Amino acid sequence: MKSALFVDFDNSFGSLPDDFFVKMNPEIMPDLKLIRLNKTLCDDLGLKPHQLEKQDGVNFLGGKNILSNQKPLAQVYAGHQFGNFVPQLGDGRAILLGELIGKDGIRRDLQLKGSGRTPFSRMGDGRSGLGPVLREYIVSEAMSALGIPTTRALAALLTGERVVREGPVPGAILVRIAKSHIRIGTFEYFAHRGEVGKVKILANYVIDRHYPEIKDKVDKYTQLLEKVIEKQAILIAEWMGVGFIHGVMNTDNMTLSGETIDFGPCAFMDHFNIDKSYSSIDAHGRYRFSNQPHIATWNLSRLAETLLPLIDDKQTNAIKQAEKSLDAFVPLFTAHWTKVMGKKLGIENPIESDKLLIENLLNLMQVGNSDYTLTFRKFSNILRSNDHKDWITLFQDPNNPKLLRWLKQWEKRLRSMSSSKEHIAKNLDATNPYIIPRNHIIELCISEAIRGDLSRFNQLAQGIKTPYLEKPEFESYSKPPEENEIVHQTFCGT
Ligand code: AMP
Ligand code: MG
Repeated sequence: MKSALFVDFDNSFGSLPDDFFVKMNPEIMPDLKLIRLNKTLCDDLGLKPHQLEKQDGVNFLGGKNILSNQKPLAQVYAGHQFGNFVPQLGDGRAILLGELIGKDGIRRDLQLKGSGRTPFSRMGDGRSGLGPVLREYIVSEAMSALGIPTTRALAALLTGERVVREGPVPGAILVRIAKSHIRIGTFEYFAHRGEVGKVKILANYVIDRHYPEIKDKVDKYTQLLEKVIEKQAILIAEWMGVGFIHGVMNTDNMTLSGETIDFGPCAFMDHFNIDKSYSSIDAHGRYRFSNQPHIATWNLSRLAETLLPLIDDKQTNAIKQAEKSLDAFVPLFTAHWTKVMGKKLGIENPIESDKLLIENLLNLMQVGNSDYTLTFRKFSNILRSNDHKDWITLFQDPNNPKLLRWLKQWEKRLRSMSSSKEHIAKNLDATNPYIIPRNHIIELCISEAIRGDLSRFNQLAQGIKTPYLEKPEFESYSKPPEENEIVHQTFCGT
């Protein structure tokens, strides 16, 4: 029987000049099997889960069935990796299958990660192991449920191959959805080659796709830079609100759309440490928790450099303008961070003095080694029960008098608001998650999945969809790791 599968694809990126990509199909994988399909996301995109679950649909998701309206391609980009410029990276293990217009009218990329070699694979095998695919599935979906801009996971598949990493592991593909896959590194690729015309084409494409409201402005390239600066300032503040460490904030891993992308050695912090970094390849802590806003500014400066010739014909004027635009990052970040952290304390409209309240708490958490997520989650209990015992025992020294002093100040601040305690407690519960994908749980899911048992992965994938709800079946996922369970290092696994 002929396939009834129809997906309404568009390929706007594929109509850009030829040197933006290489048109090619993914490699054919021997035995594609569905690990998990994100049905809610299917609905949002107008895809039919019951079709995608059939083998035909699975073969479509894994790039084995290419529909006649698809023009798959691998994108080219460059990037600064740990501060060093690499003139050509590109999709070394990814293929853009095409673009879909969702129910919300927004155009999104459908991309396969782990779908085989491309001309950009360099020394790599073009594959993904099961571990990184499951990790990205869980973490990106958790980010989305927490309301943080991110690429999404539509599906995870087994390829039927074994790939060699630390040993042989099952090969897998992540089917990823993104507002686009255009990175700062995409701009750097053309700028480095002195192809200003191509930078302009790319900038116009990004404006049309992501920022159409600035399309007709005379200074649209300056405004493009400012839009991306604002998106990234907000994004990093949101990350830090949930204790997220991206781990590899290279310029090729930073999008023009403002979505989080490329979840490699990323992690949500357990015990608070402002300088925490988990990534095994980040020996000097370049991408540590506290350094994320600085790195974002550094990356955005690389983007600004690529746009200089479009900003003003005169380089000195262009530099002056770009510097002015970049100067906005810190105030934007600080304002958003204060808003995010204020909300985590139950304060809707934080004022200047609230910054000190927030910083004092973070200092206590640092000294007391308290669990980042639970320190905030348990605030609502204090308001409801008038009992802080549960909260202070999160700290290494619960008798530290500074804890009670801080609580008194916090309660005084809340009393200054007109809201009732119950109202504030409710807001706190809708702000501070109960479940984040904790490193030790993710590791457990991965090791069990490699042995063929996907039950914990599936349960966690379910749990992170409602991060603010306290359901008994997810209680174990809300708990910090025991001493012997703590994950100290995370790996790219590429
Ligand atoms: P990432 O670590 O995912 O940000 O990737 C950095 C660069 O390395 C990108 O150009 C990837 O396409 C490439 N890359 C990562 N892993 C592989 C692999 N297994 N095979 C080919 N290219 C890879
Ligand atoms: Mg990357």
